[in-house]
Amino acid sequence: MNFVRVYIRVLKELGSEYRLAVVLVIANLALAAAQFAEPVLFGRIIDKLAAGQNDPASIQWQSLLPLLMAWVGFGLFTIASAVLVALHSDRLSHRRRLAVTGSYFEHVLHLPLSFHTASHSGRLLKTMLDGASGMASMWLSFFRENCASLMALGVMLPLSLFVNWRLAGLLIVLVIFFGLLTTFVLRRTEGMQGRVEQFNTDLAERASDALGNVPVIQSFTRVESETFAMRRIIDEVLSAQMPVLSWWALAAVATRASATLTLVGIFLLGTWLHMRGLATIGEIVAFMSFATMLIGRLEQIVGFVNAGFLLTPKLQDFFAVLDTQPGVHDKPNAQDVGRLSGRVAFENVTFSYDGRRTAVQDVSFVVEPGETVALVGSTGSGKSTTLSLLHRVFDPLHGAVKIDGIDIRDMTLVSLRRNIGVVFQEPMLFARSIEENLRVGKPDATTEEIQVALERAQALDFVGRQTDGLMTLVGERGRSLSGGERQRVSIARALLKDPPIMIFDEATSALDATTEKQLQKALDAATQGRTTFVIAHRLATVRNATRILVFDQGRVVETGNFDELVAQNGRFAALARAQFMAAEPAPVALPHGVGSELPA
Ligand code: ADP
Ligand code: MG
Repeated sequence: MNFVRVYIRVLKELGSEYRLAVVLVIANLALAAAQFAEPVLFGRIIDKLAAGQNDPASIQWQSLLPLLMAWVGFGLFTIASAVLVALHSDRLSHRRRLAVTGSYFEHVLHLPLSFHTASHSGRLLKTMLDGASGMASMWLSFFRENCASLMALGVMLPLSLFVNWRLAGLLIVLVIFFGLLTTFVLRRTEGMQGRVEQFNTDLAERASDALGNVPVIQSFTRVESETFAMRRIIDEVLSAQMPVLSWWALAAVATRASATLTLVGIFLLGTWLHMRGLATIGEIVAFMSFATMLIGRLEQIVGFVNAGFLLTPKLQDFFAVLDTQPGVHDKPNAQDVGRLSGRVAFENVTFSYDGRRTAVQDVSFVVEPGETVALVGSTGSGKSTTLSLLHRVFDPLHGAVKIDGIDIRDMTLVSLRRNIGVVFQEPMLFARSIEENLRVGKPDATTEEIQVALERAQALDFVGRQTDGLMTLVGERGRSLSGGERQRVSIARALLKDPPIMIFDEATSALDATTEKQLQKALDAATQGRTTFVIAHRLATVRNATRILVFDQGRVVETGNFDELVAQNGRFAALARAQFMAAEPAPVALPHGVGSELPA
């Protein structure tokens, strides 16, 4: 059963705390034994009192004293150890909850972008929070109650056989009934609860997706329809959850009822045995007390199984993420390559996202250190994919990518990525201050370095105009900045990193013509002394590239510099012509000389 497997895994996740866990288990065992002593002593005292019933004056305090003392001793011991066990269980589960949260977070950050493209951040966040707190509550109830209950069962049942095996038989029948009933309800509802959890996850994903797109929802007046869709998922959660709750309520009624019947049964059987001299009154009292305690324990265990059962799908999701292996990872003997000089070679590289349609087909080129290469081609022609292979978002299906003659799969991921700066099309800023966002590029950057980077990225002016300057908070994903401002911050961030290889993936597409022109100067300066890859649709941006790779359907169909490609009058010339015509009403944005060089 899933429940048992998940439960074992949860206990395994105790990790380095297993020693404390073992101590707690032993303490629970001692507690169970001490708890068993109480009803036994109680029964003994009753028997002594009953023996003196006809002549109460004959009862001797001396004969009762050791029993009373032992009773008090056990009582105090039980209370003190129970408090200690509870305290340490609390601490243990809090520590471990935060520890697993931390390792989940780290693991997820390591997972490749291909994983993150496929899983919503809202879903991942929910899985993290639910999984970690679910595990914490399982540890807590295991060490505070459940372990003691299991121990108590293990200790009490066999010992009760020695006290009176006939009465003990009734208790054993009760335990078997509880076990069967719980298993039955578990089997019955396991699939149902899995579905409930799917709806719950849809709910979280839907909510976080909507919250991230409030401007769209409001301007397209979608508030009502979004709320309606949300309500529908809520209804689905509820209607899937209700039958499960009914089954468990039924189980609770059955356990309660059978517990009461067992108590009555012990009383009846006890009286019958007493009349035949097979049980003393003390034994009957002790057994009633046993049975009450045992029933309490059993109900606790059923309650625990019920709670754990509701958590099982959440924990399965959590472990599924934790068990996801990154497709791209360090080879065992991967080397730290230090700072590379930036000679990039693609050798017959082929890549496919789905294993059927190729996104990049047999691409080969060599780029010398310091060169600026522009990748052009219609959308979907494989430019971004090609460059993502360079910083190992994915590994190629065939062929190899080499830098300075070393296959990038033989480098550690960290040392490879230290050598490559990426400016993404979507600037992706953190909801932190501008300065903190810049320091992502270089944590120990001096104030001067930051100023220089801002200046080169043409961002100094607008940052100066912000009320809090560098300390200005930029909002979620940089929302409080304009598109062009965001992009310039992200360029400054990459400049601060100062890597030998730089990638600009349509980084300038969000900028207006004037800003782009300014930025062009900045980029020219930034490309000095490093290998640069630029994906750009505006020909102005590619005009200065030392080489242009023209992509079509995943292949490089033309290469050369701007003038050579225009002279070839092929695919690139056609692209240039289309752009020239589109740009005609706004000649400011035109690179100098484009018109004159284009064939008529
Ligand atoms: P470009 O950058 O030239 O516009 P891309 O490299 O982004 O083109 O895309 C090349 C092809 O791969 C396209 O057909 C696109 O639909 C597909 N593609 C891109 N990203 C993914 C992805 N994450 N999963 C599946 N297919 C993708
Ligand atoms: Mg692209």
